[in-house]
Amino acid sequence: MQINGSCHCGAITFTAEIDPARVMVCHCTDCQILSGSPFRTVVAAPMAKFSLRGTPKSYVKVAQSGNRRAQMFCPDCGTPLYATAPENPTSVAIRLGCVEQRAQLGPAVQIWQHSALPWLADLADVPGTPGQEGFLPASTR
Ligand SMILES: [Zn+2]
Ligand SMILES: [Zn+2]
Repeated sequence: MQINGSCHCGAITFTAEIDPARVMVCHCTDCQILSGSPFRTVVAAPMAKFSLRGTPKSYVKVAQSGNRRAQMFCPDCGTPLYATAPENPTSVAIRLGCVEQRAQLGPAVQIWQHSALPWLADLADVPGTPGQEGFLPASTR
């Protein structure tokens, strides 16, 4: 499946060829912190099928295992875009939030569930509205 995406300010755009069956949710604490969200959703693409316009900045994260991953983000707006190997990358893990087709790309698997936030399972029962009517003012987002 062909996908495309962009950071929030539009300085960086990309296209990729992905397998929609390889969308994954990660509940590890690194993903919680780096995404600013309760979990991170990614989809893998081979580097050969990934095309980037613009120049992201990278932050190299060192895992407990010693594994190094370059976390690529827009230097202007901070949108997390993808992660890859710092040297000789063969694939990218694209952050689903910046993919235009994200609504069609439900996850096939969840990893690091032992650090999943305990309230996630109850989210469907939390009251909500289609917009933000009656809830938080825009200045708090
Ligand atoms: Zn940007
Ligand atoms: Zn993770």
